[in-house]
Amino acid sequence: MSVIYDKVALIGLGLIASSMHWAMKRGGVAGSVTGYARSSETRETARKIGLCDAVFDTLEEVVEDADLIVLATPVGAMGAVMKQIAAHLKPGATVIDVGSVKQTVIAEVQPLIPAGVHFVPCHPMAGTEHSGPEAGFATLFDNRWCLIVPPKGSDADAVARQEQYWQALGAQTEIMEAEHHDMVCAVVSHIPHLIAYTMVGVADDLRRVSDQEVIKFSAAGFRDFTRIAASDPTMWRDVFLTNKDATIEMLGRFTEELFALQRAIRTGDGDQLHAYFTHTRAIRRGILEAGQDTDKPDFGRVQVER
Ligand code: NAP
Repeated sequence: MSVIYDKVALIGLGLIASSMHWAMKRGGVAGSVTGYARSSETRETARKIGLCDAVFDTLEEVVEDADLIVLATPVGAMGAVMKQIAAHLKPGATVIDVGSVKQTVIAEVQPLIPAGVHFVPCHPMAGTEHSGPEAGFATLFDNRWCLIVPPKGSDADAVARQEQYWQALGAQTEIMEAEHHDMVCAVVSHIPHLIAYTMVGVADDLRRVSDQEVIKFSAAGFRDFTRIAASDPTMWRDVFLTNKDATIEMLGRFTEELFALQRAIRTGDGDQLHAYFTHTRAIRRGILEAGQDTDKPDFGRVQVER
């Protein structure tokens, strides 16, 4: 594969940036990769594991002469980071973010983009419950979707190059409009996380999470809730604070469905429950057929490899 950007700067060295780094190295996608993280501890870890060709202590240094700048911090921090780097970007460079929410990020980051610099918001729909530089691996994006959400008037070449870039990292790409993106992600990612957090919280309220029985028998569904509920608290706080409208809208619909099922259980309406579960089972089959999950035992849990 050929180099798509000569010099890539990664800002925030967590799961996503680290995975991008290893995937870029695997595919020969970047000439060189520089990195910056907020804490000296994360920078030291990155240096120790060979993440990035050079890790810098300041934002000004990491973006110097970069062709592609990746904002890979929690979404709530992106505006502040952009403010600091704006004056140091070279003309013709492209800034992308990988945030899980798009409307708020666009509203905060786009006004700070200097003339002559492109901004292409992206969202790789791939992740694990782990965070930090050591959590990343080269195959994270393979066969996953990366949604590209260019604001109106975006430079067509910069957007096309981003499509090419994510495909070189192993992903499939789709262009989407920001409001639609936030609604879709509320359904497929944000609300499921909220439900997992709630379910584990409920079990904890009942003082049962640490019970031997709960741990021993947790293979039956609950274990997967605990895995999702172990996701990074800062990242998910920011997701809900910045995707407020879509989350509240979808949560309303979810609650209505839940009440309908609650009623069916209370009134003993087995036909309704059976029909509902048959329908949802067909959706799961559709996901498998689309190659977006595996039917392997243990849900084919990701084996970390760099
Ligand atoms: P992560 O593993 O928790 O890493 C976050 C990185 O951002 C760390 O290097 C952290 O630095 C830095 N950071 C945190 N707060 C900061 C601040 N206020 N200013 C500057 N840097 C800060 O996170 P991640 O999972 O890679 O997520 C990064 C982005 O990708 C988020 O916007 C998230 O919404 C998005 N995303 C995540 C997933 C997923 O499943 N994880 C999937 C798709 C998209 P320190 O280590 O020094 O604190």
